[in-house]
Amino acid sequence: MGDEQPPGRRGSRLLRDAAWRAGRFSGVVDLEPVLRAHRAGYPKAKMAPVRRAYEAAELAHRGQSRKSGEPYIIHPIEVTLILAELGMDTATLQAALLHDTIEDTSYTLDELRSDFGDEIAVLVDGVTKLDGSKWGERAEAETFRKMVLAAAADLRVLLIKLADRLHNLRTLGFQPAHKQQRIARQSQELLIPFAERLGMYELKREMDDLCFSVLQPEAHAAIAAALTAREAEGRMLLEPALRRLRASLKDQRLSARVILHRRHLWAVHLDVGTHLDTLQPADLFRLLVLVDGEDRDCYIALGAVHTSMTPVPGRLKDFISLPRFNLYRALHTRVIADGGKVMDVIIRTRQMHRLAERGLAAHIQDVARGKRADVAGRIDLEWLRRLLAWQNDATSADFLESLRGDLRPDLIAAFTTEGGVIPLPPGATPIDFAYALGPEIGNHAIGALVNGRLAPLHARLDSGAVVHILTAETARPSAEGLDAATTPTARLLIRRHLAAQRADDADDAAETGRRMVAEAVAATGMELLDLECRGVSGSIAGRLGFRDLDELYAAVASGDVDLHPLVSQLTADSA
Ligand code: MN
Repeated sequence: MGDEQPPGRRGSRLLRDAAWRAGRFSGVVDLEPVLRAHRAGYPKAKMAPVRRAYEAAELAHRGQSRKSGEPYIIHPIEVTLILAELGMDTATLQAALLHDTIEDTSYTLDELRSDFGDEIAVLVDGVTKLDGSKWGERAEAETFRKMVLAAAADLRVLLIKLADRLHNLRTLGFQPAHKQQRIARQSQELLIPFAERLGMYELKREMDDLCFSVLQPEAHAAIAAALTAREAEGRMLLEPALRRLRASLKDQRLSARVILHRRHLWAVHLDVGTHLDTLQPADLFRLLVLVDGEDRDCYIALGAVHTSMTPVPGRLKDFISLPRFNLYRALHTRVIADGGKVMDVIIRTRQMHRLAERGLAAHIQDVARGKRADVAGRIDLEWLRRLLAWQNDATSADFLESLRGDLRPDLIAAFTTEGGVIPLPPGATPIDFAYALGPEIGNHAIGALVNGRLAPLHARLDSGAVVHILTAETARPSAEGLDAATTPTARLLIRRHLAAQRADDADDAAETGRRMVAEAVAATGMELLDLECRGVSGSIAGRLGFRDLDELYAAVASGDVDLHPLVSQLTADSA
């Protein structure tokens, strides 16, 4: 026995491979950093399952290389390292090591399932691309739909996809220019918003800047240079204020770290664009106050900030009592430092900081270590569930459009009367709100109470609005509703309902028209069914320019085609 024993009695073809039995691993890359990072987060975790996944992946990818010329296995290892450093559990690391095997090697999903079990198979399948040769140009959208669907069941799928994309962005330089641009743009549109929604800001910032450097290399370089050039100046400017702040925190008996935090380049770019000559310290840096303590200590720290520097009125944002739609919690304020320069200050506890940087990954780690019972907890994943529940039969293009709409970063927050948060795009209306609650409510909406006052369905909602939707059983979606709707989801659902309505109406009309024709034909002693079976009616419909009989009959019912000349024609043709 010993080392030659293949793991699992039902080892697949791959794991029974002679090379595996001989233990001849190419050994070109080192799994040790992954194991070290995993052990740091989970001192009791067993490392054998991770090694076994590595061995299977290494065998499957052996002989393949990346565009850089390195052995392919480097990529899954780097992806796994990103996840291990985020504190992800053993199963996620195993799946990350294997994440490209089904897509890119002869290893099959069934084999993987029999070697590693259902949990790992579901995670790997969730990030496996659909076959372009079978799905054609819909492959990309459908692959995304499949991934989102898998993520709704197990969010770790999204974490693996994000780590995979991060490493691909880090190594983008080896791809041809057009592919670099496509991957960067797609990342900005769909993956980075996911990272933001899941509260994974550390990862989001790195992806932001990597995409920025590909899409606008000159602007990227200019801001990077400005940031380096102004850092010393920023520190000097803030030094006296920081001394006062530290003393003030001490007076309040608060233990806190005060850090001058460099903003990431993309965020600076979004704020200042090309006006680099007017860059202020506030554009480049944030003052981060990390408090050792509870939520309420943040408010005490806020008092210390406002007594040591002059606050700018109206700039206080309390994301502790009014959190955003992801896990982010903090106090934000703006102050005037010495020399009259403004500076944004962020105050968080250590726990808030960990969540603010790692978001969902921090949550999953707490769950895996048994510190927290529910993974969903405060994360509002309703948007993900809603998206999936209604969009199963949307076309690929509609699905991607809705997803993009749902992932917009500049959402406003509207509230249900029970205090539930509904994220909506700016300019959204009560009808959008109604469809965000569900198609049933949207379809029957007749009006709304916004902040307790009656409002029409096309009213514009402001952030913070409390909305109650009024419904009536007999109400149906209308063309006016479609005009009032701004979210892709609401528009999609109304359009679909109107189309179904038109089809129903058309069916009714065709039936009525056919009855009229049938009665008139019967009066001449003939049978319409007989004429239809002989193709007589069909050929007349064709001559009159209708696509089919239903259209002809519907035209009779509406009076567009006169009944009696038609019947004469029918009887004449049948002779
Ligand atoms: Mn990959």
